[in-house]
Amino acid sequence: MSRVYNFSAGPAMLPQAVLAQAQREMLDWHGSGMSIMEMSHRGEEFTSVAQQAEADLREVMGIPDNYKILFMQGGASSQFAMIPMNLLRGKRCADYINTGDWSQKAIAEAQRYCDVNIAASTEEGGFTTAPSQEQLNLTPDAAYMHYIPNETIRGVEFDYIPDTGNVPLVADMSSNILSRPVDVSKFSMIYAGAQKNIGPAGLTVVIIREDMLGEVMDCTPSMFNYKIMADNDSMYNTPPTYGLYLAGLVFAWLKAQGGLKAMAAINQRKAEKLYTAIDNDPFYANPVETKYRSWMNVPFTLANDALDATFLTEAKTQGLVTLKGHRLVGGMRASIYNAMPEEGVDALVGFMADFSKRHG
Ligand code: PMP
Repeated sequence: MSRVYNFSAGPAMLPQAVLAQAQREMLDWHGSGMSIMEMSHRGEEFTSVAQQAEADLREVMGIPDNYKILFMQGGASSQFAMIPMNLLRGKRCADYINTGDWSQKAIAEAQRYCDVNIAASTEEGGFTTAPSQEQLNLTPDAAYMHYIPNETIRGVEFDYIPDTGNVPLVADMSSNILSRPVDVSKFSMIYAGAQKNIGPAGLTVVIIREDMLGEVMDCTPSMFNYKIMADNDSMYNTPPTYGLYLAGLVFAWLKAQGGLKAMAAINQRKAEKLYTAIDNDPFYANPVETKYRSWMNVPFTLANDALDATFLTEAKTQGLVTLKGHRLVGGMRASIYNAMPEEGVDALVGFMADFSKRHG
């Protein structure tokens, strides 16, 4: 068996130890004689798995007791609609920061339900930076302020948490959740699709302060209602049980690695190695303002884009795969989430140096 270094933006690599454990437990989970996939979600065994997953996530992220953790479905994209439905709470306007393609999708969806004030946009400069706190044009009575701390496609990551005063702060952390410690108490709600830093696609994690629950738009489907989900411990219907089980294994793996502080040190080192390789070689370029460069998604271009296909083919022969940039921006993108070993980044850096020597 040979495993490649997979730089996909998502679904992305999972820790090998987690996959191996899932494989060991596949046919007979803990002596039950069945796979976890085959169990009732309301049975004692699966309930214990779900509760442990929640407890471990709470511990790893330091989520205060007055926050609910919801395990939902529909990806982060469904949250784009659920957020206005649940969080407008009688108000008509919400603030959104536009730092890229996912911000724009969130904004377009919210506009179906309310007036959207663009608190800041970096579109003019080609989404290569984030706005500073001073540049935010906040609405004092907005229902909430939404932003994306890490824009996955162009690799722009905020280096601060916006201060919105009394206006609830909502963050789509799909591509940087669990990559470093974060003060959850600064947010009214955090959400993330699982397929990057949590587990398999199909699961969506919502972390929400309790006082935000319960005042939904009349049209809100029950499955989209955070209060109903919270009151039913995320089991209003059948949850994505296998995804939840695997997410639980990932949370336990994170604890075993030393938690988010330890992950942050590794992630920072991995990102620095890659950006240094890009900055020190004129053959490669990354357009993002240095202090807003993502630790998780590193886009870069080659000096000659006619060599893109060769780069990708040669990389693949070295076991370095899924480096093609998003179709909207072209070039390359290396996504280096928690499960990407540092050796994978070292191998990519080595390949890049060799490639530019031969083709540059
Ligand atoms: N938000 C961000 C920041 C993302 O990166 C993505 C997916 N790449 C999404 C939302 C959409 O997620 P999903 O496919 O889970 O709906």
